Amino acid sequence: MTQNALSLATDAQARQAARPQLSFEFFPPATEAGRERLLRETLPALQTLGPEFVSCTYGAGGSTREATFGIVSAIHRAGVEVAPHLSFGADDAATVGALLDAYQEQGIKRLVALRGDSPSGTGGSGLAHAVKLVEFARERHGAHFRIAVAAYPEVHPQARDYSSDVHFLKAKLDAGADFAITQYFYNADAYFHFIEQCAAAGITKPIYAGIMPITNYTQLARFSRFCGAEIPRWICRRLEDFGADTDSLRGFGIEVVTRLARTLLEQGCPGLHFYTMNQPGPSRSIVRNLKLEPAA
Ligand code: FAD
Repeated sequence: MTQNALSLATDAQARQAARPQLSFEFFPPATEAGRERLLRETLPALQTLGPEFVSCTYGAGGSTREATFGIVSAIHRAGVEVAPHLSFGADDAATVGALLDAYQEQGIKRLVALRGDSPSGTGGSGLAHAVKLVEFARERHGAHFRIAVAAYPEVHPQARDYSSDVHFLKAKLDAGADFAITQYFYNADAYFHFIEQCAAAGITKPIYAGIMPITNYTQLARFSRFCGAEIPRWICRRLEDFGADTDSLRGFGIEVVTRLARTLLEQGCPGLHFYTMNQPGPSRSIVRNLKLEPAA
């Protein structure tokens, strides 16, 4: 190897070592065509970006139990590290325990432990808090699973107050979760203030930023109202201006979210978790804009 090639290889290694963690979230497709597209197109496209893992959501109240299990198993068989999302929902310990056993038997080593919402989407009264699932998985499976939990820089909609939300995040991490992933947000200051408050409360485990690419304003506005994520007024007004011009809207969305993600990483955020909505394009563009593709 020449001196020049050696120095290029060393630079590539250094870039790789300093690389923030990336992960990509999917939902279980409802149709066979959607499943094929996820496995044959979306997953391979995002794998080229070198994620630490991908994850797959779990419908409220266990409504996608079989579908989530099926697609997670298929992703695992494809050789990709995958984290199933899971909540107790309306299920008893035997059902959830059997699911965890089946994941462990296949060699799946990750889990995103949640409370979830009620199937009507009206909240979560009566549902077991995520901390119960973390405790349950640790009691039953020891250190087998690397467990992620949810965090809310803009405060969970049902939280009593800001500090109790931080307190309950700490409880989940103290119960054995390894790291947290945030709800998406478009205001970097919300994330950094939250990180400061978590540090002040004694949280030392990493908190990765949830990133929602912008592709459809109506859908995003509806979902944001439900989950308590704030879209800054200037972004709303710009998105409204684009109307049916989806190319311009997506271009603007990629630009805004790239800038947000760059700010987060430059100021110490340890990594990004993309809510892909099963569309590889926007997440891939953002990762490329950030020059985070793995070294060849
Ligand atoms: P919890 O941690 O239980 O918190 C819920 C609320 O209760 C908060 O207000 C908290 O402050 C409070 N709280 C927590 N613990 C206690 C306690 N011990 N006593 C009293 N109050 C408490 N939803 C799905 O249905 N399926 C998914 O796959 C899914 N994936 C997600 C992935 C990520 C990364 C994120 C951020 C969210 C996801 N959600 C998913 C949404 C999530 O289920 C909802 O936000 C839900 O309302 C709360 O779930 P949680 O795990 O944060 O709950």
